[in-house]
Amino acid sequence: MTDRRRFLKASVLGASASILAWGGKLAAGPINRSGKLAAGPAPRTPPTTVARVVSTWDFGIAANQAAWTILGKGGHALDAVEFGVQVPESDLKNHSVGRAGYPDRDGHVSLDASIMDADGNCGAVAALEHIAHPISVARRVMERTPHVLLVGEGALQFALEQGFKKEELLTPESEMAWHEWLKTAKYQPSINSEVHDYGKGGSTGMPGGANNHDTIGMLAIDAQGRLAGACTTSGMAWKMRGRVGDSPIIGAGLYVDGEIGGATSTGVGEEVIRNAGSFLVVELMRQGRTPHEACKEAVMRIVKKRREASKTLQVGFLALNRAGEVGAYAIQHGFSYAVCDAKKQDGLIPSQSVYTTSYS
Ligand code: ASP
Repeated sequence: MTDRRRFLKASVLGASASILAWGGKLAAGPINRSGKLAAGPAPRTPPTTVARVVSTWDFGIAANQAAWTILGKGGHALDAVEFGVQVPESDLKNHSVGRAGYPDRDGHVSLDASIMDADGNCGAVAALEHIAHPISVARRVMERTPHVLLVGEGALQFALEQGFKKEELLTPESEMAWHEWLKTAKYQPSINSEVHDYGKGGSTGMPGGANNHDTIGMLAIDAQGRLAGACTTSGMAWKMRGRVGDSPIIGAGLYVDGEIGGATSTGVGEEVIRNAGSFLVVELMRQGRTPHEACKEAVMRIVKKRREASKTLQVGFLALNRAGEVGAYAIQHGFSYAVCDAKKQDGLIPSQSVYTTSYS
């Protein structure tokens, strides 16, 4: 057996044993790649009676700061999350959200987004092309139609009727990356890879070995205790045309319940959809879990079902409860989330994860 195969086998066995030991309880710590349990207390964000906003990944810092311009003045959480996630949607350096997002395997930038408030109102768009701020179209779906989700051509038609501008979202840089991918990919959609150094780009075809996806999921509670959430992404780079991820699926990529809290996700959308991930996190909080515990249990639900695949796939959940407590958990090392409130505007917190080292 090669060293690498031995390593993989040991890791799988270690992970399985640890998962079994976990048995649905929350006592076990994260698993490192040698199969040992890595101890470590769950991070606790103190409850807040004032406003707070949280977002996925490091690009969440700038998004939170934009949201804070509304929350800090006593504004509505729903306005804050819409405004906040527009920042990565506009960012030309961000190739996983909005304009400049990497295209599908046929070269089309197609965007998914959803928004939800504390009263169960929600709206979403999926596979929307040519509109730079899908989150705002999602909000219009929520507020101006009797529906929850519009897709593809119909979503575009609605956006244009609402006065949104039709634009080319594929930037020269994204187009170049797509052409590079086409050279070696044999037109095979790359369903996953997190793990930023995985395969030095070999699996994802991404420049510098970067991963081929990410989402901004944002959750906010305002000074009046109102909760809201937003989630927006260009999804998996080089996906099949028409592929829709978890982000626009209410209950998968985003869920908010004013009595409990909210949750959002990033990572392989197919796994999140299969497990109704964000809804699950909120329901676990309803049963008394902290946000951290709820995210961890939802992650472990996926890992248990996908023992082998979970070694390389990434899913991360982020949750905020009514008390303003924040928690997160991911399968792979590397997920982070940004927290912003009156005390601190630019906090970035590394999430705990099942696997504590990079897969390489
Ligand atoms: N969840 C997104 C999707 O599957 C991608 C990501 O967040 O990494 O489309």
